[in-house]
Amino acid sequence: MPVRDEAAKLAGEIAELRHAIHREPEIGLDLPKTQAKVLDALDGLPLEISTGRALSSVTAVLRGDGAHSRPGPVVLLRGDMDALPVTEETGLPYASAIPGAMHACGHDLHTAMLAGAAKLLSARQADLPGSVIFMFQPGEEGYAGARHMINEGVLDAAGQRPVAAYALHVTSNKLPCGMFSTRPGPMLAAADQITVTVHGRGGHASQPHRAADPIPAACEMVLALQTMVTRKFDVFDPVVVTVGSFHAGTTDNVIGDSARFLATARSYSAASRTALADQVPRLIRDIATAHGLTADAEYAAEYPVTVNDAAEAAFATAAIADAFGPGRGEIAEFPITGAEDFSFVLEQVPGAFVFLGACPPDRDPESAPTNHSARALFDDAALAEGTALYAELALRRLALG
Ligand SMILES: [Zn+2]
Ligand SMILES: [Zn+2]
Repeated sequence: MPVRDEAAKLAGEIAELRHAIHREPEIGLDLPKTQAKVLDALDGLPLEISTGRALSSVTAVLRGDGAHSRPGPVVLLRGDMDALPVTEETGLPYASAIPGAMHACGHDLHTAMLAGAAKLLSARQADLPGSVIFMFQPGEEGYAGARHMINEGVLDAAGQRPVAAYALHVTSNKLPCGMFSTRPGPMLAAADQITVTVHGRGGHASQPHRAADPIPAACEMVLALQTMVTRKFDVFDPVVVTVGSFHAGTTDNVIGDSARFLATARSYSAASRTALADQVPRLIRDIATAHGLTADAEYAAEYPVTVNDAAEAAFATAAIADAFGPGRGEIAEFPITGAEDFSFVLEQVPGAFVFLGACPPDRDPESAPTNHSARALFDDAALAEGTALYAELALRRLALG
């Protein structure tokens, strides 16, 4: 039976698991209820299961019997499990029962689809010419859960390094339901945080010459960062710097002692990222010095660029066309400015990150609320398709050796 038909047969139970996870969202690295649901779904399957120490991850290894004399290659499939600090406004019958927590990025679908793929592939264990690592990961949304799992050995869980790693991500807008999208090279940006504190000397607002006002210098820094982006970086290797938070002072007639702002920096190459980390703090400090002030500028590396291996992206594209038919996959023209901690896996293992449209058919993908919105909807119709693609990628890649 084709993999897609087997996935369609599992659609009901995959949706049931998804709804249960959706109803009880958990945020961060510690997701005990979600972990319990995953362990329950995997119960009875021929998997070697281990759980995380620093986080509530689940690593499951399926060892195929079809490799004969050699153990065969290893493929890693990843699904993230965490929710966001958002209060759900979808009105779904299975909407979050927990105020302030919602699966607004669709990770409930990823978890359920990966569990479905584990079941589907377990049924084919006898013919499987290698091993599959199922990586159920907490803490994607800013907690670097993937890095924690790598530190705890997920990449070596099957005894040898995977030859390839794949992740799926659903999207509530942009793509029609069931459409896959990937590209070779950069798929998502690197995301880093810039924290700046400008130290001045407070005083009376009517006598600024007797004080050292941090606000004009801090404003100059905000504008200078934008000038730096356009003057110091290649337009064909884009960089985004956005100051998202700016705080200084208390009232109109007082000069405060300090000003503070936070910015996010997005980039698509190691060269641009290194240049940002080098140039941003220098620019900030030198502007402060020019005004007789001092400034602390901290450039904190968060997630690296998510880079799809060209051969693996081509392999995934071909697998989508062959398994789902023409018109179901697209090569994304541009990367996304969002970031992903699957980037840490792709730094060590060649692979591909693939988007899957889950916009409900009665919504316009162009205007539907985006991932992270309190009104984002992800259609259950995507579940069987995502499950099938996870399984197809593993089966086809293991067959390549
Ligand atoms: Zn997200
Ligand atoms: Zn996400």
